[in-house]
Amino acid sequence: MSVATKSFIKDSPLPEFVEMALPLPLRQTFTYRLPVGMQENIKIGARLLVPFGKRQLTGYAVALHTKISPEIEIEEETIKDALELIDGEPLVTEEIVRLTQWAADYYSASWGEVLKASLPAGINATTEQIYTITTKGRDELLKISSANTIKAKILYFLGENGETSGREITKKFGVSQSQRALRELVKENRASVFQRTLTTKVKPKRRKAVRLLPPESHNENQKPFTEAQARIIETLLATDGEIIFTDLIEKADASASSIQTLAKRGILEIVVQEVWRDPLLDIKLPEITDLTLTEEQSGVLLEIEKAIEKAKYKAFLLHGVTGSGKTEIYIRAMQMVLDKGKSAMMLVPEIALTPVFSRRLRAVFGDEVAILHSNLSTGERFDEWRRLRSGTARIAIGTRSAVFAPLQNIGLVIVDEEHDGSYRQNESPFYHGRDVAIVRANFAGAVVVLGSATPALESFHNSQNGKYDYLTLPNRIGNRPLAQAELVDMRLVFRSEGKDAVFSPQLFEAIEETHARKEQSIILLNRRGYSSFVLCRTCGESIRCNNCDITLTFHKRESKLVCHYCNHRERTPHKCPHCASRFLYFIGEGTEQIEDILRRKFSNLKIARIDRDTTSRRKSFEETLMAFSRGEIDMLVGTQMLAKGHDFHNVTLVGVISVDAGLALPDFRSAERTFQLLTQVAGRAGRGSLAGRVLIQTFYPEHYALQHASTQNYDDFYAEEIRFRKNLNYPPFVALASILIKHPNYNFAFDNAQILCECLQKSNTKKNCIILGPAPAPLARLKGEHRLQILVKARNRRDLRETLDFALSEAQEKFCDLRIVNVEIDPVNML
Ligand code: ADP
Ligand code: ZN
Ligand code: ZN
Repeated sequence: MSVATKSFIKDSPLPEFVEMALPLPLRQTFTYRLPVGMQENIKIGARLLVPFGKRQLTGYAVALHTKISPEIEIEEETIKDALELIDGEPLVTEEIVRLTQWAADYYSASWGEVLKASLPAGINATTEQIYTITTKGRDELLKISSANTIKAKILYFLGENGETSGREITKKFGVSQSQRALRELVKENRASVFQRTLTTKVKPKRRKAVRLLPPESHNENQKPFTEAQARIIETLLATDGEIIFTDLIEKADASASSIQTLAKRGILEIVVQEVWRDPLLDIKLPEITDLTLTEEQSGVLLEIEKAIEKAKYKAFLLHGVTGSGKTEIYIRAMQMVLDKGKSAMMLVPEIALTPVFSRRLRAVFGDEVAILHSNLSTGERFDEWRRLRSGTARIAIGTRSAVFAPLQNIGLVIVDEEHDGSYRQNESPFYHGRDVAIVRANFAGAVVVLGSATPALESFHNSQNGKYDYLTLPNRIGNRPLAQAELVDMRLVFRSEGKDAVFSPQLFEAIEETHARKEQSIILLNRRGYSSFVLCRTCGESIRCNNCDITLTFHKRESKLVCHYCNHRERTPHKCPHCASRFLYFIGEGTEQIEDILRRKFSNLKIARIDRDTTSRRKSFEETLMAFSRGEIDMLVGTQMLAKGHDFHNVTLVGVISVDAGLALPDFRSAERTFQLLTQVAGRAGRGSLAGRVLIQTFYPEHYALQHASTQNYDDFYAEEIRFRKNLNYPPFVALASILIKHPNYNFAFDNAQILCECLQKSNTKKNCIILGPAPAPLARLKGEHRLQILVKARNRRDLRETLDFALSEAQEKFCDLRIVNVEIDPVNML
């Protein structure tokens, strides 16, 4: 008998129990009994199907036990059997089991949910509703003579078919009708419903291929070949090795049956071949230019290389201005790690994984690179992930969740644009990709490099107190000057041009001049849509989303009002819904309107818009960016998607329509974010040999974030911002947790928030924490839910964790419904 798990010595007894992390918002693991057949095959990290209440769930094996430890207060008889072992060879490596455990612990999240988030979508189990007829339903069926209502029809259908999925029923009877009928049937106890787990949606893509066999496997039968058969063999001889079945039919002009006959005669064999769904298939790769590093670059690279050589954990903050050549350093460091037989990971912000960048990496590293981001199809992501899991690819490039990529023997972790907000997952399980990356490197004894032109305040702070080694690239490649940003005071524009002026004369002029020089420009505005909201001039009410405490945005092209939070859409009314007045007023501009104004004013310019509305299709986004980089478009208008990462050499003008809304957000990070955004935007200008110009329109040019952004002086900004954080007790001087309690029923949310708050006060005996709330969250209602917020500030993480852990278990005992409680540690977005 073979013993499967590493952690068991040869003749130790087999594990009889498995501890499972389940993808539920619960902060505990569950124990199941392993039926005999599973005991020898199970490994840590494997997925199993287990019963949970009335449901069946796919969970992850996180520990194996030969007996129940006495600490677990559980009656052995009550332990249920695991139903099915899904993976013989676990998808989740032991390293990731450990890393997710840390993340769940640190972020007060569910281990199972973190594990689920660590796997590519589609691999994770989904559930479907299964309906059956009840005895009561059957009895009634006998009584009805003919089924003429929809309910009766469905009941008949269930009676005939047994267990039927909701999907099948809605397909047969139509969504709108059957949903309601099913609900009623269940309520009347004529049908019952349960959930069944479907293990995977995504599968490897396979196709048939044909290959010639050596003469010794040919059958005795020496009949001469037909013409078609001869053509098949000829075609096969001309290819080296294998050819796709359908290609062979086409090339040899033969039929499938002739190929099959040859297979029977042992001349060739038909094999099933797995196909790699390559996200960069058929894409032309750029040429690799062999650059000589500048002295500054070499100095930085040397430090990183020394650390890689030592093969021990070390963290660097690489603070390099935009265009200082950080990417080149990343590439060389990754090459070094590969040469040592190890693997490397590079995280990039959501939007920075531009087609330009991934192509460049593919050009350098070939198939060793796997790309993981949310714009891939499920199949592509699955295949890329498996190439990493099997070790075929040893470099993972990806966005946030790629931090859990199944790389083995990792030597280097890079987090580019480490300050970027998209590293934080904004829904449960909350985690910060950058911070998990640091811990992953630490566990693996790897080197981690955090790169940015505008480091997060926390990261810079850590480099000052010695947690990270500080590396800097203070100059742009070729000593190109950094574009100085000019602040355009819109108060003056308002006085001379009137209140409707969106563009200052300065910006219009600059656009004109840029175009005259045949150079390109980028115009940025952080608001999608046409108008930011619709206001009634008679009663003063604005039109709000039914589900959210937020005004709807007018989108002209589709003539709809859209909620930017829940995506609710409605027709634009002709009358005020509150007072029926016809005087509706569209206020504020969005990207759509800016684009309109620019098109009217500069009819000779080719203008394209990039924001979430135009880029929902990946291809169109990529095409626009590629066309812009080829110079086929003169101007890009868009949201902050445009601010980051791109390297367009002919862009010499960047205009920012307004930054004031961002500065005014009720969030202690709003100044930092505005500073970062503007510095990044300014970094898009003048990256080639041409000097760049940046114009920022604002009603508040005195603000320190704008002042320091205009001179691109990080150190001065840091000095001022860190003082503010210290004085007002904000991170990095305190450890912060934000607790959000969400429910459609306000009273229910409030009562639970109240219980939790009392438990927090009670557990805060040493008075280490400041507890604020419960108060309405800045977005008091969202997607139909009321939201209350509690903030906990502590002197250090330990105090924070202790207080939280104690309070949460106390609250659970007091029947606080923890399912509606979202704890966010180190929150990034306070809205
Ligand atoms: P960053 O990531 O720091 O903003 P990039 O890595 O995009 O900067 O580099 C900016 C530009 O400089 C790119 O076009 C890059 O190809 C070029 N570059 C980088 N290193 C060198 C070098 N040593 N010599 C010449 N050009 C370089
Ligand atoms: Zn009105
Ligand atoms: Zn909404």
